[in-house]
Amino acid sequence: MRAFASDLDRTLIYSHRMIEPGAVPEVHLIETLDGKDISYISSYSRKALQQLNNEIFFIPVTTRTIEQYQRITLFQHTIQPEYAVTSNGGHILKDGKVVKGWSDQLKASLETCLSLPVFIRQLEALITGNWVDRIRQADYLFVYLIIRRDQVSREELSALFEWAREQGWQPSLQGRKLYFVPNPVNKWKAVEYLKDELGLSYVYTAGDSLLDYELIKYGDKGFVPSHGEVLESYPNLHKTEAHGMAASDEILLSITEDLSLSKLLSEQNS
Ligand SMILES: [Mg+2]
Repeated sequence: MRAFASDLDRTLIYSHRMIEPGAVPEVHLIETLDGKDISYISSYSRKALQQLNNEIFFIPVTTRTIEQYQRITLFQHTIQPEYAVTSNGGHILKDGKVVKGWSDQLKASLETCLSLPVFIRQLEALITGNWVDRIRQADYLFVYLIIRRDQVSREELSALFEWAREQGWQPSLQGRKLYFVPNPVNKWKAVEYLKDELGLSYVYTAGDSLLDYELIKYGDKGFVPSHGEVLESYPNLHKTEAHGMAASDEILLSITEDLSLSKLLSEQNS
């Protein structure tokens, strides 16, 4: 059995800011929060994912918390993946419920790491100036900062990145969110667990950020949208021609072609 284990935000789904006018023919709103429109998927991607989810395992693999993941209506109604990885690998959900086997295994490997409260305390002491608006914990596993990017220097950011890596934490900057995640909380590790559990023979993967690096690297075939943050550090990963939302369509077209599903899809379209 094959699987497609993919990051969501800025890989398959996009905020309004990331949608270039005319890039894709049609988009669907798939998430709102407090009356505001949050994220969208292209019409083609929605159809392709629906098809994929019927034929192989489609596994959403996101840094979103469980709550943030469940806010995406697309994966509650239209497409219901049996498995999902949330919290950057911190949780595996089967039919919406936490898989305890994985949580227990992860808990054990986190015992060797600098703990979340200690990490946050040390991080706060290192930040100078007032470019951080908020500091948030995600599912008691990792931390992210809401920052004002124009008010922080590249030097200060790279110094923080370096310090975090020395502590065994992975940094990632995505829009206004600056993430710090302990190394065991890793998307690929969760997917690898599922690979063993489900006996998956081949895993397509996709992602855009530094937090997706192992997922892209260790997947049997890994894709990166050409706008991906991860390409700044790892330019040799397999990247799309398309930029922005059209990158999602390109990745899905490539996979459906690989699986000979694309003919089926175009017949459905006509
Ligand atoms: Mg992403």
